Amino acid sequence: MPEKTYLDASKALEYLKTYEHPDGLAVDELMNSKIHGGLTYNDFLMLPGKISFGAHEVVTESRITRNVVLKTPFMSSPMDTVTEGDMAIAMALLGGIGVIHHNQSPEEQAAMVRRVKRHENGFITDPVVLSPSHRVDHVLDVKDRLGFAGIPITDTGALGGKLLGIVTNRDIQFRQPSTPLSEVMTTDLITAPEGVTLEEANDILRDSKKGKLPIVDKEGRLTSLLARSDLLKNQNFPLASKLPSSKQLYAAAAVGTRPADRLRLALLAEAGLDIVVLDSSQGNSVFQLEMIKWIKEKHPKLEVIAGNVVTREQAASLIAAGADALRVGMGSGSICITQEVMAVGRPQATAVYAVAEFASKFGVPVVADGGIQNVGHIVKALALGAGAVMMGGLLAGTTEAPGEYFYHEGKRVKAYRGMGSLEAMEQGKPMPTSAANGMTSNGSTKKKAATHENAATTRYFSESSAVKVAQGVSGDVQDKGSVKQFLPYLYTGLQHSFQDIGVKNVQQLREGVREGQVRFELRTASAQVEGGVHGLHSYTKRLFA
Ligand code: IMP
Repeated sequence: MPEKTYLDASKALEYLKTYEHPDGLAVDELMNSKIHGGLTYNDFLMLPGKISFGAHEVVTESRITRNVVLKTPFMSSPMDTVTEGDMAIAMALLGGIGVIHHNQSPEEQAAMVRRVKRHENGFITDPVVLSPSHRVDHVLDVKDRLGFAGIPITDTGALGGKLLGIVTNRDIQFRQPSTPLSEVMTTDLITAPEGVTLEEANDILRDSKKGKLPIVDKEGRLTSLLARSDLLKNQNFPLASKLPSSKQLYAAAAVGTRPADRLRLALLAEAGLDIVVLDSSQGNSVFQLEMIKWIKEKHPKLEVIAGNVVTREQAASLIAAGADALRVGMGSGSICITQEVMAVGRPQATAVYAVAEFASKFGVPVVADGGIQNVGHIVKALALGAGAVMMGGLLAGTTEAPGEYFYHEGKRVKAYRGMGSLEAMEQGKPMPTSAANGMTSNGSTKKKAATHENAATTRYFSESSAVKVAQGVSGDVQDKGSVKQFLPYLYTGLQHSFQDIGVKNVQQLREGVREGQVRFELRTASAQVEGGVHGLHSYTKRLFA
């Protein structure tokens, strides 16, 4: 056998650059091929780059609308089983943003927006407050319902009243239920001034050995409260989504595009709303175009996320009308049957790429909405040009999502339903499946019924139809614990993925994709099987620790 001659190994890199075609595909080769049709996130992968930095150095900051940049690209869906006040606060504290749903009265939605805006991490900004003329039995009632008895007393019996005292468990022991609180309250008070930092307030509380620390303004009016029981829970949130001009969290909420939504939006704006999402399954409608123009005129400070769209043509209309961002997705949601029933929609990866590529020319960011099942999908959406991802199902099983946990076939679950499900459209009627337990056990869904135009029907243009055609299903998802553990997992996962690709931030990812350095590979059906867990008799899949 003749000896094979090899190239000089030390010249491998030079050789690669000069003579070889790069591996994989550039993004336009992947997405613009007419052969394979539309792609979903599972249909392709990204090829690894070079690691030259630690994952902790990766910055995930991203622009989600023309004027809003967040530290993490995570949004929660405006759905009645996903985002109310608790979720919106947690999402913003962790660097993302939660969009408060509108399948409730405008007043209830505005109260949630106000809660987000007033939230001060660690401080209770809506404490239970009583007046001196309340009685011991009122305190016992609070203790029964909420489990605590440390209650500040103000002259008005409300937050903002002059602080007169505090009532604790010890003060009401052995007292007649009818005794007025003026006779039992402690008036020797330790307080902290408004503007105190959480750290300072925690120190005062620790040293004072009291259970509660009232925070008062210069006139002695109660502005918030700090609880000893929360001391250990008072974490720092360095990624929090806050307005640069104030320390308030960003608040986002959804509205429809009907005349009544203008009144709703006025209430939300008054409550401090920063970002409005125009919630429609098909955004390219005259109603939405008029609504965008009206908002830009009447509420010029609001950022408007318009949608949903999946084509350049739809996007162009909304961009021309003044949208500050576009929400992309039709039929990709985990609870969605739109593609099946309506025969319209688009595979999500193709939709995100097409719209983002077009919208980026006008400086309009894109939110990839629906179909996000794991960290990898988030990375792919960002690589295809999305400024953020919007998640419903992935967050629905968390503590902060509305509704109670219940057991279904031995698993602890929470209800999750499409806004186009009959259950959401007929809100107020008892839900037929076991998933109904989660929604009705705390009575919240029933209580909120029929006080407003049903948001689910307007989202799907169904309000005037005699027959309601469902575009979503109703079910349940498994308990995921708190968003406060789950979002840091998504964030850290994202950092590690960026490190594998060899990019340090979203901008580098975008540039790498645009210039063809970040490469893609199509996945055949068998490649998808190979890329998943296979060949095991059984296994447990724990995602983070
Ligand atoms: P997921 O994250 O895959 O669960 O998808 C959530 C997204 O699905 C939402 O943000 C909405 O855009 C969309 N969606 C919500 N309800 C419905 C529905 O009933 N039918 C179709 N799409 C829906």
